[in-house]
Amino acid sequence: MFTRRTLVASLCAAAALPARAQAPGKLRVVASFSILGDFVREVSGARADVAVLVGPGADAHVYSATPADAKALAAAQVVVVNGLKFEGWMDRLVSASKTRARIVVAAKGVKPLQAQDDGHGHGDSDPHAWQSIANARIYVANIRDGLVAADPPGRGDYEANAAAYLAKLDALEAETKAAVAAIPPARRKIITSHDAFGYFAAAYGLTFIAPQGVSTSAAASAQDVARIIRQIRRDKIPAVFVENLSDPRLAQRIAAETGARLGGDLYSDQLSPPDGPAGTYIDMVRHNIRELTKALAD
Ligand SMILES: [Zn+2]
Repeated sequence: MFTRRTLVASLCAAAALPARAQAPGKLRVVASFSILGDFVREVSGARADVAVLVGPGADAHVYSATPADAKALAAAQVVVVNGLKFEGWMDRLVSASKTRARIVVAAKGVKPLQAQDDGHGHGDSDPHAWQSIANARIYVANIRDGLVAADPPGRGDYEANAAAYLAKLDALEAETKAAVAAIPPARRKIITSHDAFGYFAAAYGLTFIAPQGVSTSAAASAQDVARIIRQIRRDKIPAVFVENLSDPRLAQRIAAETGARLGGDLYSDQLSPPDGPAGTYIDMVRHNIRELTKALAD
């Protein structure tokens, strides 16, 4: 069902999976944020105890690590991070914790895209590489290899789990390509202020256009909205996924004056709680495709 959301929640603000108490005898793995935690759980199955650092409502870009995080790292045998300067806070936490864990950089081997200057505060490379399913496969292979290296007796389990999950990712990618192919080519563009979908756009042929003059860190003003309205008309953009609108009436005004649809929530950097619409990576991608398809359909 398409709902004209008056306010689209921040993509970075959705909840992470909660950390659990440690079970004895299991490989202790810490993942920096929820999407990595999901990959690790898929690959490790029952062999590992997986904790996620960036918790519900927190933004992995600007996370403030806690003493409990340092403790979790100190006790970990494997720490999984995204890399591409996504977790700018991680290096300091690793050295403060004096952890001897194996550090697995999930995005190692990904071909990085140039980041747009979106006020996110990270480096030159766009860190949101997991938004391409082909890259997610690289993440999973790196995690598998890291777990095998840390726990050689588990090799058979890790390899079998990873192979099964990689097959699911193959199916997910086919599904994604089919969904985009069903959108008329002229309609494959949206305006969104959250610049987290560069890899998705490059992989699947959608165009994500930044609203002119709108920063992700500040609320959009009435003037910003007037500019967005001109931009939508000029570029014939069918849908807008707007965040950071201080006043929900601004989004309604965009829709009323342009006929563009207002999209729902897209998840970029965090999963929803397990019972939400994007509790796993696969559910997150499916949810985003559904929202995009709804907003862009004829
Ligand atoms: Zn982000």
